[in-house]
Amino acid sequence: MKSNSVPKLYVLTKSKVISGLQCHKKLWLDTNEPIKQELHIFYIGNRFGEFARTYYGEGCDLTGNLDAISAIAATKSAVNDPLIQVIYEAAFLHDGTLVRVDVLRRNSDAWEMIEVKSSTSLKNEHIKDASVQAYIAKACGITLNKIQIAHINKDFIYSGNGDYQNLITEADITKEVLQNMNEVPQWIAQLKPIATLGASMPDIAMGTQCTEPYNCPYQERCSALLQKLAEVPISILPYANKNLIEDFAKQGVYDLRNIPASSLTKPQHLMIQAAHQSNTVWLSPHLKSQACSYTWPRYFMDFETVQQGVPLLAGTKAYDALPFQWSIHRWDSADQILNVDDGLGYLKFYDPNMDREFLQTLLSAVGTNGPIFVHNASFERSKLRALVKRSTCADLHVPVEALIARIIDTLDIARDGFYSPVMMGSYSLKNIVKAIPTTVDYSSSNGLSGGGDAQIAWFKCTDPNISSSEKLDWENKLKHYCAQDTLAMYDFIKYIAES
Ligand code: SF4
Repeated sequence: MKSNSVPKLYVLTKSKVISGLQCHKKLWLDTNEPIKQELHIFYIGNRFGEFARTYYGEGCDLTGNLDAISAIAATKSAVNDPLIQVIYEAAFLHDGTLVRVDVLRRNSDAWEMIEVKSSTSLKNEHIKDASVQAYIAKACGITLNKIQIAHINKDFIYSGNGDYQNLITEADITKEVLQNMNEVPQWIAQLKPIATLGASMPDIAMGTQCTEPYNCPYQERCSALLQKLAEVPISILPYANKNLIEDFAKQGVYDLRNIPASSLTKPQHLMIQAAHQSNTVWLSPHLKSQACSYTWPRYFMDFETVQQGVPLLAGTKAYDALPFQWSIHRWDSADQILNVDDGLGYLKFYDPNMDREFLQTLLSAVGTNGPIFVHNASFERSKLRALVKRSTCADLHVPVEALIARIIDTLDIARDGFYSPVMMGSYSLKNIVKAIPTTVDYSSSNGLSGGGDAQIAWFKCTDPNISSSEKLDWENKLKHYCAQDTLAMYDFIKYIAES
């Protein structure tokens, strides 16, 4: 028998059922052409899952690299061992569907099932998720007398000293899961043929299911088909009106260059359309005089922050942003040429005093006068204001407000009067540098292409198993990445002033 003809032990997993309930095409793609995604939210979930295993105490832990057959056998033996009170990642297989239960805890003469979610509230999708787990576990002979979702207590404020006693909140969903129980076999029957190798891809149009309840990772792939209809799709307009796109699509018009200007109401949209129609860069004349009028020295500033389910600093809650890196480029005169290594930086992954240290070093780096350019400044402003609300930093309120008053948003400047067709509707720094002379090369950032990647780097660097050389490598990448953002802003302001 050829190896590829060996029947698979299972065709569905809990994740695939949930995927298929969102969109049949998504399930098909998961099975046949999966995208390997590395998202920071996975790291948040994993770290919270690790915390939950310490919270529920010692037990038989089947997490790790156990294959399905070994995990199922180990589960059976743990279930039959009266000395084992808790099983983590118990494995059950029924009707071609494999599930791994986060926590199974003995409860009198039956079991309590707990699914761990790193969200701050109970969601409908959690109930579907637990229903699949419970159905398969029950079919495998497990008697469940309680089913719960363990999620983050949004009101929990970490007081320090490792006291996380109230971080987890449990929601009893036994009744809701029991109500779903009859539906699960129907879900499985409907989804199994789609997840079977050799099935043809379901023909499904994009719609609300692409973002609800989860952001589908295949959106780029599915929208590529739509984009083939136009070289410059109307959808590139920032905050494009969906009705506008659909109305023109009904008339067979997909290209922004072919719609009447009178249908566009925002000056920025008109500017973008005009730039694409003439295939030229659009630069409003007033921007040059504005760029020349800024006083010296000029600073360019960027932050990286991380969010997590298990707060680290005393006085913070889950998902409070922890600023762990800043980069500053200081520009002293028009003839000074700056390079990526000319910047200043701060980078620390964890220290009980790092919120205060972050602010103090930043205040010292930007001095007391001169504009501070920031791209999409609402992010940095909000992080600064959140920091001075903490008791450890409250005395820095006045100098931090003075710093905030000096901030000028390069995103506002760009939206006000700059556009190049190569930006394809995006005002991110990564797209702006495509349109101006620059030494910034984001492809040299080696795996870091945005704030989400910087958060992943933070999680990797705070993993106790990371080697020192790997950590150093990530530190260098982070420093380079953040400094490229500040240099990109310098290049942008310089370009406008010299144009
Ligand atoms: S992008 Fe939308 S249509 Fe495409 S697979 Fe995902 S959910 Fe389905």
